[in-house]
Amino acid sequence: MTKYIFVTGGVTSSLGKGIIAASLAKLLQSRGLKVTIQKFDPYINIDPGTLNPYEHGECFVTEDGAETDLDLGHYERFLNIFTSQANNVTTGRIYQTVIQQERDGAYLGKTVQVIPHITDEIKRRMLLIGDTGKYDIVITEIGGTVGDIESLPFIEAVRQLQWEMEKEDCLVVHLTLIPYLKAAKELKTKPTQHSVKLLSENGVHPDIIVCRTERPLNLDLRKKIALFCNVKTEAVIEAIDANSIYEVPLKMLQEGLDVIVLKRLHINGYSAPQLGKWKEFLEKLKYPSGKVTVGLIGKYIELQDAYKSILESFVHAGAINECKVQIVNVHSEFITDENVGEKLGSLDALLVAPGFGKRGVEGKIIAVRYARENKLPFFGICLGMQMAAIEFARNVLNLKDAHSTEMDERTPDPVIDLMEEQKKVTAKGGTMRLGSYPCDLKPGTLAYNIYGQSTISERHRHRWEFNNAYLEQFEQAGMIASGKNPGTGLVEIIELKDHPFFIGVQYHPELKSTVENPQPVFVDFIKAAKEFAEGKIAVKNPLLQSEMI
Ligand code: GLN
Repeated sequence: MTKYIFVTGGVTSSLGKGIIAASLAKLLQSRGLKVTIQKFDPYINIDPGTLNPYEHGECFVTEDGAETDLDLGHYERFLNIFTSQANNVTTGRIYQTVIQQERDGAYLGKTVQVIPHITDEIKRRMLLIGDTGKYDIVITEIGGTVGDIESLPFIEAVRQLQWEMEKEDCLVVHLTLIPYLKAAKELKTKPTQHSVKLLSENGVHPDIIVCRTERPLNLDLRKKIALFCNVKTEAVIEAIDANSIYEVPLKMLQEGLDVIVLKRLHINGYSAPQLGKWKEFLEKLKYPSGKVTVGLIGKYIELQDAYKSILESFVHAGAINECKVQIVNVHSEFITDENVGEKLGSLDALLVAPGFGKRGVEGKIIAVRYARENKLPFFGICLGMQMAAIEFARNVLNLKDAHSTEMDERTPDPVIDLMEEQKKVTAKGGTMRLGSYPCDLKPGTLAYNIYGQSTISERHRHRWEFNNAYLEQFEQAGMIASGKNPGTGLVEIIELKDHPFFIGVQYHPELKSTVENPQPVFVDFIKAAKEFAEGKIAVKNPLLQSEMI
């Protein structure tokens, strides 16, 4: 029998509902329960795939190729599980289904309405993952803030489910803010009271209130919140600001959040929390023995959420290397031949980020050249890999106008070209090469060394690819394809023979890095950065010694 936890948010956005939901899920999982999380987003886009990162941060891609909210990345990183298309639902997708059903005649003769038709579809989707019978607990995060017009149908669906289910089968956690007023030297509970009142007006009564706060909540404040919001005092949980999101599960453990949930849901027979690996990771994170500086070359750097999974992958890779990874954001639009040395000169490694469109690509190409010529450890992801191929074509193969047809349709040397299957695609939503594909690695290469196996599987999100018509020329000059799709021959990984650590990947390795399983390319990249910092890098790449290729 699956139990359901709904997480709503009040007072303001950006309180970290996703982190609280993931932390609660982690604690329940650590007690031996099978848990998953899903997110319901109130916007009308079918998915965030067509949104600019400035609007919505990174688009997280699941194994099955769904373009989803970045909170799903947190769920996977915390829980070490895969999510899927079903774990992220938007208002757009709900309406699309209902409207399609209406066209198909499913409601013939009836007026189609928000209640019950839209709310029925929301409820159906809220229960879908639980209906598989695979989980003890499904946590559903409701995007947006209580009081927003667009979240109302979701809140109404939660109200209906609360009525339809037995009391011990579902509960609501409400996350709010307790602001500290400096002038009054006081924490204020009024916004929380208002937000719970608003939720109650919509018929949903929270069982647990999680309070984001900069300062500790004393017992009196907890009692006051409990009294005004009609919850038990122990169900008022302090969520004080943490240095790292990965500390939040332990803070929630101290607050007893998981125990309150288990009691309220009448779940017995759970074990003590097994968080050994998590704590080990946190120890390493807190007490690094060294530091490296990695340049992140991108064009969305003003908004850190745009590169969320990459930044988190560095946290995981840093911890396992017992080393703090200091990220230096470098805006690719402002890198020129003249200032590149000054901008990148103090770095221990360079990552060129994914992206779309023309803006900022020339700066990325200049940065790649710098890393190639100065033997700086280099890691290019998706567009970053494509820029590495273009740089090599222009500056080593002497194909001066080489480009990707994404940026220059008329380039004489399209070393990066639109994939054949993309040429007939005109629709924009969900039409890229998405999700997980296998990749065969060439023995004796850096990639093979990193993964330690001959076939891997990684996730994708792109339309352009390396143009195999140029592969022989590239390989003869020293840039080889060390990973390819076994079915199509699509180049998945490129690397340089005469460079200590230079790798470009067409896929998105950052999407599979978790606390318990840091992604191997990131791990070895940080290792290479450490060695570069110590001035002793020269040996990582087996291609440097190998005569095989
Ligand atoms: N714009 C490039 C493509 O579509 C790269 C995409 C990316 O970096 N995710 O192929």
